[in-house]
Amino acid sequence: RKAVFAGLRDTPAFTKDGHKVTLLMNAGLAVDLDILGETGAEGIGLFRTEFQFMVAEEMPRLEAQTALYQRVLDVADGMPVTFRTLDLGGDKLLPYMELEREENPALGWRAVRMGLDRPALLRLQLRALIWAAKGRPLRIMFPLVASVDEFRAARAFVDAELAWAQRRGRPAPSRLDVGAMIEAPSLLWHLDALLPMTDFVSVGTNDLMQYLFAADRGNPRVADRYDPLSPPALRALKQIQDACAETGTPVSVCGEMAGRPLEAFALVALGFDRLSMPPTGIGPVKQMVLSVDREAARRGVLALLKGAAGSVRNEIETLARKLYV
Ligand code: PEP
Ligand code: MG
Repeated sequence: RKAVFAGLRDTPAFTKDGHKVTLLMNAGLAVDLDILGETGAEGIGLFRTEFQFMVAEEMPRLEAQTALYQRVLDVADGMPVTFRTLDLGGDKLLPYMELEREENPALGWRAVRMGLDRPALLRLQLRALIWAAKGRPLRIMFPLVASVDEFRAARAFVDAELAWAQRRGRPAPSRLDVGAMIEAPSLLWHLDALLPMTDFVSVGTNDLMQYLFAADRGNPRVADRYDPLSPPALRALKQIQDACAETGTPVSVCGEMAGRPLEAFALVALGFDRLSMPPTGIGPVKQMVLSVDREAARRGVLALLKGAAGSVRNEIETLARKLYV
């Protein structure tokens, strides 16, 4: 099978009825970059910048951050890279950064909340990203945005850093896209205000499912209790995709589910056409995309959502098998 997937490396992922699906890779360390070319990914849809911080012995300085981001953009060689700003706190702790113990870390001081409260840390990272871009296109996204105000405040830091870089005579990125991750369910009811403010959004289904079902993603006793292939989850995802289609906002899915063929089938059926995943997912997901009729999948999946009591995984699997040629 590995040979089959390798053979597909340079084949673009079009559905049987001609819809292009862009497959991107999730990454976070310099070593991940070695396999970018092998995977056939069309870019990096999620670069988890906190990994550099987690493997370091002390807080990476501006130079070290800039060097890594520059290397990522060099290796990507013109393919898009979406850098996510630091997503620390929760389950991601730093040995050299004293954080208060929290009763509910997943609901606590993490991700963009920390960035907004510690602007020096956030601004240093934004500076490194702008310097690394050196006149090339740059994509920045913020994790765990829970309110439109948070996105506005985060975006203002990007503008401030950009102005500062320009005053210092640094070249501005040739194009700058700033996006939000959709991970907090609150945003689902505020997309009308959020989407016009963003250049793109990306759905972090790992966290979105955790918060939607109130189930700790790291606790096996509850993590597997709720199925993303069930009406509440699929309807939430459909709501995001529909709102983005209406405003013309580019949207991707970058949670682990995007890298599992059956889940990716459901995402494609709902209309998502940008999926970012662990490198091992790209071959199997591409094989699925190439063999599926998107319109038939859409009709089938939407029909399954009506009136189902719980998981529709088995039904979606039956549907997918029927549609596979
Ligand atoms: C997610 O939550 O789906 C996501 C992609 O971010 P992380 O897994 O790094 O929290
Ligand atoms: Mg997340």
